[in-house]
Amino acid sequence: MKFTSELAHRISEELSKRKPMGKCQFCGKSQWILSDGFVIFPVTHEFPSTSIVIGGGGMPTVALVCAHCGNTAFINLIQLGLKEFLDTQ
Ligand SMILES: [Zn+2]
Repeated sequence: MKFTSELAHRISEELSKRKPMGKCQFCGKSQWILSDGFVIFPVTHEFPSTSIVIGGGGMPTVALVCAHCGNTAFINLIQLGLKEFLDTQ
């Protein structure tokens, strides 16, 4: 799956429906920037993990970054309802 402008638009649409981000809890500003790509957190059933597979599976997220202070939040794209969209890309 590629991070396309269509996907970025779809993410913004879903976020605006749910309104998860109001004011930044650190600085109180409310201007957020969507990452220009995926942020992937590795998911493992072992801790400490014995290996990390580059290009392996993981939790697909995007980052929302406060434009004022850099505070960063991560949004899980599957929980956002975009799993089927991601599978077709
Ligand atoms: Zn902030």
